[in-house]
Amino acid sequence: MTAKQYIETVLNEVKEKHAGKTEFIQAIEEFLPTLEAYLEDHTEIIEHNLLSLIVEPERLIQFRVPWQDDEGHWQVNRAYRVQYNSAIGPYKGGLRFHPSTNESIVRFLGFEQIFKNSLTGLPIGGGKGGSDFDPKGKSDAEVMRFCQSFMTEFQKHIGPDIDVPAGDIGVGGREIGYLFGQYKRINGFAAGVLTGKPVSSWGSLARTEATGYGLVYFVENALEDRNETFEDKTVVVSGSGNVSIYAIEKAQELGAKVVTCSDSSGYIYDAEGIDLALVKEIKEIRRGRIKEYLEQHPNAVYVEGESVWSLKEAYDIALPCATQNEIDAELAQQVIASGAKIVAEGANMPSDKAAIDLYKEHGVLHCPGKAANAGGVAVSALEMAQNSARLAWSFERVDNELKDIMKNIYYTCSKTAETYAEKDDLMSGANIAGFDRVVQTMLSQGLV
Ligand code: GLU
Repeated sequence: MTAKQYIETVLNEVKEKHAGKTEFIQAIEEFLPTLEAYLEDHTEIIEHNLLSLIVEPERLIQFRVPWQDDEGHWQVNRAYRVQYNSAIGPYKGGLRFHPSTNESIVRFLGFEQIFKNSLTGLPIGGGKGGSDFDPKGKSDAEVMRFCQSFMTEFQKHIGPDIDVPAGDIGVGGREIGYLFGQYKRINGFAAGVLTGKPVSSWGSLARTEATGYGLVYFVENALEDRNETFEDKTVVVSGSGNVSIYAIEKAQELGAKVVTCSDSSGYIYDAEGIDLALVKEIKEIRRGRIKEYLEQHPNAVYVEGESVWSLKEAYDIALPCATQNEIDAELAQQVIASGAKIVAEGANMPSDKAAIDLYKEHGVLHCPGKAANAGGVAVSALEMAQNSARLAWSFERVDNELKDIMKNIYYTCSKTAETYAEKDDLMSGANIAGFDRVVQTMLSQGLV
């Protein structure tokens, strides 16, 4: 069987088995075809049917989370954990609390996480989880009760050498703190069971900043490779969560002008440059909506109900940091028309397949999420290392390690792309390099 035929066969198997799981099928469809040239060179992967093995999670857990709201009503949510691949280390990946969370989304995120984690070069396998619980509009007490109930069941399935969850959309320091407290109450203090912990509970300095900073470091390397810098570049960012905030911070520090941020209700365009202290106050302290930005900056524009990617102003770099599929073909056309030369993904799979095809067609450098946003999970692995050693590293030490890791990821992707595709095809480079480390390890461990 040729590599192409093998990929088709596995793709069809997945489509048939998982009809209706659109995000999961999309992730597999974007991944497998990029492996063709690599598989032609590595026929042992075809002989051992490793694609069929790798698309199947090692374990998928689903459970219910009962909790009581502030009015005393009994509520229930559904939760998941996909323990996808443990070839190179314990399952590692975030938990997402968002009403859209379902099996398809958890599977796609878990699948991507395997290769992202592999690209970091650190010893972490791939997993992901979450719940359809919506923290928006809930009181602190409700979030705490939900987290405690979630962990009462979840603790049976995790451990510092088994599965180490962290945050994702809707899960930040507050949620991880409550989850950690409940784990500790049941099992005793085991810092290494979660990452992204509050620093006082053995969390790592610079973990909060890591995904956003790492994204900007990745782009900085891509720019440097083309004899350019962030200086005076105009940058458009979507989202206003943790990834967006620290991407804006680092891009501004490197001399760029960031003109947007957004939430699910609309976006802010501030031609003078985003006032990040205000965004932090609105999102991190008030837990408010981004339109509140206008109260202090009446000259900025708030566009209700529209995607930031419909923005018609000119800019150089797009950093989608909100969520999956936020850029489709129509919006990608606008991104390209606005003059963007680089799209670097802080979110997981924010561009759909048609958008990615358009970037390629128009010579836009596409930095895929599994490479560009790997800084978050990389620093999570550094948090695990610190926890094992019972040490706490300085912010500078962690930040310097992060810089090195992102540089290494960029050049690994770019060199692998040169070998198997074209230099600028960072998606193929990321997929192949991430895949290679995992499958070679799987082969060495035998059929397990
Ligand atoms: N949720 C983040 C991601 O998409 C971080 C995961 C982690 O730190 O384990 O990679």
